[in-house]
Amino acid sequence: MARNIGAACRRCRRENLKLYLKGERCYSDKCAFERRAFGPGQHGQARFKKQSDYAIQLREKQKVKSMYGMLESQFRLTFEKADRQKGVTGENLLILLERRLDNAIFRIGYASSRNQARQMVRHNHILVNGKKVNIPSFLVSPGDVVSLKEKSRSNAVINENLEAVVRRGVPSWLELDKDNYKATVKAQPNREELTMPIQEQLIVELYSK
Ligand code: SF4
Repeated sequence: MARNIGAACRRCRRENLKLYLKGERCYSDKCAFERRAFGPGQHGQARFKKQSDYAIQLREKQKVKSMYGMLESQFRLTFEKADRQKGVTGENLLILLERRLDNAIFRIGYASSRNQARQMVRHNHILVNGKKVNIPSFLVSPGDVVSLKEKSRSNAVINENLEAVVRRGVPSWLELDKDNYKATVKAQPNREELTMPIQEQLIVELYSK
């Protein structure tokens, strides 16, 4: 499974935004972004200089890619799929990203980060409609039930994560039944509920060049 293994906190500092890539650490005072809110590297403090349109579009794409923990080729394929769909390409892209199984696991609260969610999926902890699914890019659809395998329900990390999800909240397109370790996909993800500052039209402009 190819994944981005670059330093997570550097990516937050590069994008000048908390991307919440490290689970609980991101909410603590150990967060590198809180301690060093300037860009990484020798010229990190000079990042506020004027940027070209291309640089702004590129940074937006890199930010969203990092947020969802994707590599360029996966991200590009998702964009192409969004472009083939009816409707607004940028919104389609964000909805496709939200529908990924690893993202859904993070949103439900079984995992404290998308990275951890991806590992849980790969390690066969997750069932969709009662069947094992170990593909992080699997897209969930309305009506799907995402649950934990019986053996995984006593996992201390997962239970701690479920307790901590109250702080983040579960989006309205998912309904969590905490006691039974299952969540139902009630609807398509909603653009309005994505509260992270994302300007998806910049990504469309970048890929349309
Ligand atoms: Fe980003 Fe802070 Fe989390 Fe590191 S700890 S990934 S800087 S939000």
